[in-house]
Amino acid sequence: MTADETITREGLAARDVADPLARFRDRFVLPAGLVYLDGNSLGAMPRAAARRVGEVAGREWAEGLIRSWNDAGWIDLAPRIGEKIGRIIGAAPASTMVADSTSVNLFKLLAAALRLRPGRRIILSEEGNFPTDLYIAQGLAALRGDGHELRSVAAADIPAALDENVAVMMLTHVNYHTGAMHDMAALTAQAHARGALALWDLAHSAGAVPLALAAAGADLAVGCGYKFLNGGPGAPAFLHVAPALQAQIRYPITGWLAHAAPFAFEPGFRPAPGIAAAAVGTPPVLSLASLECGVDIALEAPIDQVRAKSLAQTALFMRLVEERCAGHGLAIVTPRDGQRRGSQVSLRHESAWPIMQALIARGVIGDFRAPDVLRFGITPLYLRHAELWDAVEVLRDILATGAWRDPRYEARRAVT
Ligand SMILES: *Cc1c(COP(=O)(O)O)cnc(C)c1O
Repeated sequence: MTADETITREGLAARDVADPLARFRDRFVLPAGLVYLDGNSLGAMPRAAARRVGEVAGREWAEGLIRSWNDAGWIDLAPRIGEKIGRIIGAAPASTMVADSTSVNLFKLLAAALRLRPGRRIILSEEGNFPTDLYIAQGLAALRGDGHELRSVAAADIPAALDENVAVMMLTHVNYHTGAMHDMAALTAQAHARGALALWDLAHSAGAVPLALAAAGADLAVGCGYKFLNGGPGAPAFLHVAPALQAQIRYPITGWLAHAAPFAFEPGFRPAPGIAAAAVGTPPVLSLASLECGVDIALEAPIDQVRAKSLAQTALFMRLVEERCAGHGLAIVTPRDGQRRGSQVSLRHESAWPIMQALIARGVIGDFRAPDVLRFGITPLYLRHAELWDAVEVLRDILATGAWRDPRYEARRAVT
């Protein structure tokens, strides 16, 4: 679409008919009457997931009972799904594993990174990184003591802050608040040039943008199962350790499933070879079953098509907001340069909270990020272009009529 071409709903509906990803929408359950723009926070449910979880509970658990660890292959689920996610993120074989939450995996990998760079005491990150990443680093620095600290700087100052005291550069590839995306290969090379390790959080990247961890030389990575991988609420997370580090790395949590022979029940810990040592305890089988359904869809969808549609849809959304919601105090926060953005659009408004509540009440589901951002996730696997038109029409109406000023939209809730 060229900049001077007029956008119409009919034109967008025609694009949806021609969309090469259109067939994926039916793989998800999407309630009628909703425009779902929060797949970057909780992905929609794959139809297969409801079936699969029912089967795992009803047959493998109810009837197979303990036998299912072997007979239904429960024990192989985490490494198998890890391998699939490894392909999605462009990692080397046998370098990615599903385990725990993103927060816990960050702790494991940051602690391991500090041990790999003895004498260096800084975890370098970005101001405005996702809070749990910063909190985990703060807690780990306090645990280690002895001058260890988290140093957070503005994105532009990261290269200059990479000095000989930085053990690990911990960055989130796509920023949760703004949608801005880092150049992973360039920053990783800069970290390596200063002797630091590079740890990437892929929470808003995996399944949304093309990733090439091996080619970028990334050392360590973590990411979420329940966002663009559509794994289900609280789905287990993943972690990646480059093959070159696997022989030296030592994890801070040495649970029995990371042991070389868990069922030998030896009194002393001996790590399993390779990425298996990144496990901790018994994996959540029902959650893994649903995660695998989302991951399988992501593997099937050509990521170049996903990216092309994501860029078109984020650009379309920004343009519609500019054209149809002008004069209402909205500012676009997400980078205009496609190469610098992930798969979301963030809009700043001083009354972002009640506006988002009014949108949700009208069936347009995005979310609010403190203090003043309306956030809209773009999931090309199930989002139609015409739905973006409809969403912006609702936004325009809410702003033009002042409907968001209704006091009921002021009430705050626990999850935003
Ligand atoms: C969503 C997200 C997380 C979530 O961590 P959990 O441990 O799953 O709660 C972590 N980091 C980033 C950057 C995120 O966007």
